[in-house]
Amino acid sequence: MTTQWDDFERRMYELKDLEGVIGLLGWDEETYTPSAGRAARGRQTGTLEAIRHRWLVDPALQDGIAGLLADETLDATKRVMVQRVERQARLASRVPESLVKRMAEARSTALAAWQAAKAEDDFVSFAPHLATVVGLLRERADALGSDSGDPYDALLDEYEPGMTEARLTPVLEELVAGLVPLVQRLTEEGRAPDASFLEQSFSDAGQWDFTVRVLADLGFSLERGRQDRSAHPFTATASEDDVRVTTKIVEKQLFVSIFSTIHECGHGLYEQGFDPAHARTSLAAAPSMGLHESQSRLWENQIGRSLPFWRRNLPGLREAFPGQLDDVTPEQFFGAVNRVERSFIRTEADEVTYNLHIALRYELERALLSGALAAKDLAGAWNEKMQAYLGVTPPDDAHGCLQDIHWAWGAIGYFPTYSIGNLYSAQLLAAYEAERPELWSDVEAGDFARLLEWLRAKVHRLGHLYDAEDVVRRATGEGLLVRPLVEALEKKYLPIYGL
Ligand code: ZN
Repeated sequence: MTTQWDDFERRMYELKDLEGVIGLLGWDEETYTPSAGRAARGRQTGTLEAIRHRWLVDPALQDGIAGLLADETLDATKRVMVQRVERQARLASRVPESLVKRMAEARSTALAAWQAAKAEDDFVSFAPHLATVVGLLRERADALGSDSGDPYDALLDEYEPGMTEARLTPVLEELVAGLVPLVQRLTEEGRAPDASFLEQSFSDAGQWDFTVRVLADLGFSLERGRQDRSAHPFTATASEDDVRVTTKIVEKQLFVSIFSTIHECGHGLYEQGFDPAHARTSLAAAPSMGLHESQSRLWENQIGRSLPFWRRNLPGLREAFPGQLDDVTPEQFFGAVNRVERSFIRTEADEVTYNLHIALRYELERALLSGALAAKDLAGAWNEKMQAYLGVTPPDDAHGCLQDIHWAWGAIGYFPTYSIGNLYSAQLLAAYEAERPELWSDVEAGDFARLLEWLRAKVHRLGHLYDAEDVVRRATGEGLLVRPLVEALEKKYLPIYGL
């Protein structure tokens, strides 16, 4: 006889398998799908997404969930598994199919319009499409609902469960207040490090070999994953034993591949680190985008852009490019990977100014959603905020409000997860360093296993057993905080800039 649990478990496994296949198709689309195959691939993904949706709104699943949640004898871990699926099912059933369809259509039109507008620096042609997408997102927010009644919370919750605008706004304001003066000091009073040795070509093969070596060195299992190339690096999970990361190689920009690989490695280590006992369950997942991002940024920025890391890795890099970096010292290399600039483009921004780009988007997307800012007025508002936060005005909208894909793609509430990730990463590393003051000599010796094991125990293995902020609270003793990040940035950058 199958019990209610057996039935639920089978359904949960099927959902996970389906999500793995959808992930794999998405990976394939960005890596190996020939251009002629893209349309069919898009249809196949759409079909699987529809099956997933039908699966989630199946009344038999809802009944099973209700029965299990009413069963007081249910094991605590199993209860959380049921709660995680219940959330997915609830959100899926709240958004009417007609709205999903209208959004999919509006999104594909808006994406095409955005691409053309960006290429021609023509914001005016994109504005009406943005207005349509924002209108549909407002409908989506109303359908999803939120405890506060705030539409932005409903959207934010899709990416960062449990986080709210009321909780986040003062945090990001404090972050801006800490960063603006730091950027000012560094760029106005400091001495920028020299990076002229980077102005040369670095062979594709040398870059590829180096990044694969770094991946393995940091603990990414190449038996349970692989690296490929894509235009925009990302991580996709086909199963707990098949995690795919990608990188991008640009011969004249050595850092693109190195830091893309380390960043995606951080995501990949998280995906490879879930508790094997939770395989194929709703717990084999990160609780939020922000916590996921904390792992990529911890490895990329805090470890990968540290002096001990380059003391260890510069010799390997010299070997990969014979004769090209022989005169460069680890200190020079460390300076070059940590230049702070008031730049226009978020994805190229350094660790210090990055969060200012996010704070700007956070303010503007809330204003768009609430209606306080009309889509047609976005470009002007963008340039004003850039001047206020970064002290520069973009030369055109292609380098301004048209640079990111997110809004055209229908993602409002996504941007702040990048800053949440930066904040969590600083908190986690500070807590680890307090426990293990030899952290930096470990890094210089190439011993990354200790740090990885700590992250496994405190973050990875938990999967989605707790909400993101609870995971961080259990690991560090505190919820989302600004101070550790600002302190870490000051401690690192003032000496680099001779201050
Ligand atoms: Zn990331």
